[in-house]
Amino acid sequence: MRATLIYGAGDVRVEDVPDPRLHEPTDAVVRVLRSCVCGSDLWPYGAKEHAAEGDRIGHEFLGVVEEVGSEVSGLGRGDVVVAPFVWADNTCDFCTEGLQTSCRHGGQWGAPGVDGGQGEAVRVPQAQGTLVKLPVGEDSALLPSLLTLSDVFPTGHHCAVTAGVGPRTTVTVVGDGAVGLSAVLAAKRLGAERIILMGRHTDRTDLGREFGATDVVAERGAEGVEKVKELTGGDGTHAVLECVGLKPALETAFGVVRDGGVVSRVGAPQYSDVPMDGGLFMRNITLTGGVAPARAYIEELLPDILDGKVEPGRVFDRAVGLDEVPDGYQAMADRKALKVLIRP
Ligand SMILES: [Zn+2]
Repeated sequence: MRATLIYGAGDVRVEDVPDPRLHEPTDAVVRVLRSCVCGSDLWPYGAKEHAAEGDRIGHEFLGVVEEVGSEVSGLGRGDVVVAPFVWADNTCDFCTEGLQTSCRHGGQWGAPGVDGGQGEAVRVPQAQGTLVKLPVGEDSALLPSLLTLSDVFPTGHHCAVTAGVGPRTTVTVVGDGAVGLSAVLAAKRLGAERIILMGRHTDRTDLGREFGATDVVAERGAEGVEKVKELTGGDGTHAVLECVGLKPALETAFGVVRDGGVVSRVGAPQYSDVPMDGGLFMRNITLTGGVAPARAYIEELLPDILDGKVEPGRVFDRAVGLDEVPDGYQAMADRKALKVLIRP
């Protein structure tokens, strides 16, 4: 089969790799219907040291079950399924607590010996715990929105949930990438009435407004903080959803959070030290968030997509075939595409 490999910064290739087969009785093989490129794939695409051997990449996919191992129940050939961005047994103590990203028998797509999502097919470890059956056909128009259940929609939701977003909270979202826009959608879905979106790409913030943002602040840094304060009577918002992962975004988040408020970060942090000084202590600021256990949220978010109440798939603004995946990476890196859908 064909699959995507990353060799180093700026070097993504689509090559022949071995066809996936069942290794363990808990495995399934899934033929990929849709995959996509993640903002977090752009970190290695920007900085990975070059290697002679490529690494498999891609952690968001939905597809059709082709084969299941003898210990997999509840799934069968022909089922349309979505996979969260890590695989997990969904039965251990961490999974039971809703933290499938810490599963004792789980792991990451594209790790050594594990397929990545940006290919024609995937061997899915712990298939019964990992995969969620979708009540749609292979040609459903909902596939792009259902694909966001792999990562960006649950990640935006996790950010809003850990920040305590609800009808009584005001919200600032830092970042107008696919996760930031998903966080706007999630905050709106959880009842927030005031949602300030910080971002400077008008096409993206326009979609953010359609997703529920009530105000857009294009300014960055101190100027952006000042603007949010102006909009909130000088106080900032109860919840701040940091969806970038760079230190200036986190500093902005601390600048716009209201005293006693919560900053949640779901942007994969590209910094090591967190600037939480005595000033934030005196203001009773909480920092939370982290990698989203997408699996924990899929059943909760699925009905609203099936009913058409939310359309998180609108974050995809470009679709490519498998051979054009390298162009898709470059388009996202150049900010010419918000999020690239892959049809293998
Ligand atoms: Zn587990």
